[in-house]
Amino acid sequence: MTTTLQDCRALDAQDPLAPLRAHFSLPAGVIYLDGNSLGVLPKAAAARVADVVAREWGTDLIKSWNTASWFDLPQRLGNQLAPLIGAGQDEVVCTDSTSINLYKVLSAALNIAREDNPARKRIVSERSNFPTDLYIAEGLCKERGLELVLVEPEEIAAALTSDVAVLMLTHVNYRTGAMHDMAAITAAAHAQGILCVWDLAHSAGAVPVDLNGAGADFSIGCGYKYLNGGPGAPAFVWVNPRHTNRFWQPLSGWWGHAAPFAFTPDYTPAPGITRYLCGTQPIISLSALQCGLDVFTAAENLGGMAALRTKSLALTDLFIKLVEERCAGYGLGLATPRDHAQRGSQVCLTRDEGAGVNGQGSGAYAIVQALIARGVIGDFRKGDGGKGPHKDILRFGFTPLYIGFEDVWNAVEHLRQVLEVAEWQRPEFNQTHAVT
Ligand SMILES: *Cc1c(COP(=O)(O)O)cnc(C)c1O
Repeated sequence: MTTTLQDCRALDAQDPLAPLRAHFSLPAGVIYLDGNSLGVLPKAAAARVADVVAREWGTDLIKSWNTASWFDLPQRLGNQLAPLIGAGQDEVVCTDSTSINLYKVLSAALNIAREDNPARKRIVSERSNFPTDLYIAEGLCKERGLELVLVEPEEIAAALTSDVAVLMLTHVNYRTGAMHDMAAITAAAHAQGILCVWDLAHSAGAVPVDLNGAGADFSIGCGYKYLNGGPGAPAFVWVNPRHTNRFWQPLSGWWGHAAPFAFTPDYTPAPGITRYLCGTQPIISLSALQCGLDVFTAAENLGGMAALRTKSLALTDLFIKLVEERCAGYGLGLATPRDHAQRGSQVCLTRDEGAGVNGQGSGAYAIVQALIARGVIGDFRKGDGGKGPHKDILRFGFTPLYIGFEDVWNAVEHLRQVLEVAEWQRPEFNQTHAVT
């Protein structure tokens, strides 16, 4: 049966999570399907940041490290985030960027795996992992004389050989929205004595994650995507307690010291996850991130991550169905798995090389630009230009905290119109910008 606008409105009327939208400041006339790249502004953040600036900084000055509890904010936010990712209390800190935290945990994982068996000289990852993850791994391999081995998802199992130290994967793929089975892959790696580093950039706040349940070793993730922490928000790092105290992470700055205000000339790492801090923390940014986390705390009363996941799957199912019903015949394909167990909270559409203006490119970039001009904000991720298996991608993230079913209908209707009248072929939509 085909779906109508009325059906979508009825779904919104029955949605128990609908009240959460009121926590966000969404610009009028915008359907925001890019919360997987930069989450929207929680309404509380503007006032919170203003208060941190004017009162805590402006009036109370340095006293605020104690009086406003600035000092332990990374740990407090880590504890607030922990239930979303299946971490325990005092196992997570919010700090630094994802790239920097990856450097810390990958170093730790390599040290531990190679201390146990120096013959392990490889890091295995996915070729279509997010590039910064691959670049950090490449840098570490260069520094230590190790090898980075890149494989396709279906080749991971065979790549887990006895010379591998670490398997480094992103749980939900940024290009396709495909989700790995964390528990199964971690178990397969552990069976070969390999440690697992999981990047939760597209998972934290998007899908339920159970790091301890999966027995994962290390994990990192972003604060500014589904957690709505603001542009460049601090990221997070989790270490399985069985490893935390085994290694000084390499960025052994004073905030990771056991007694930073003892000012001793030598380094003694703090026990526990605090040693994963490096230097003085960005308090204003952490305060904004807290407002993003507060919405998840509010969502607890409405069913928490389980309810958010149910809605996320309903939104992405609906989007796929409507695109297939209403936008057929325009060369769009589906890159995201239909199987719920393998799907994150985004849907990625493909378009073939040669489908663009005058047979040039895929036209995917221009379609996204035309949608943005209509207020439907998704994004574009470049493929390999026909040289390999990766097509150009139109990417749409669905944040169940603030996206509704009617939004999905309207987004697909705009897409249909953009394709039907070939609006995307206009020259202004075919000029590339620095950030896509
Ligand atoms: C978004 C993203 C990052 C971003 O890293 P930054 O250090 O915040 O720039 C890293 N890894 C993955 C998998 C991502 O999706």
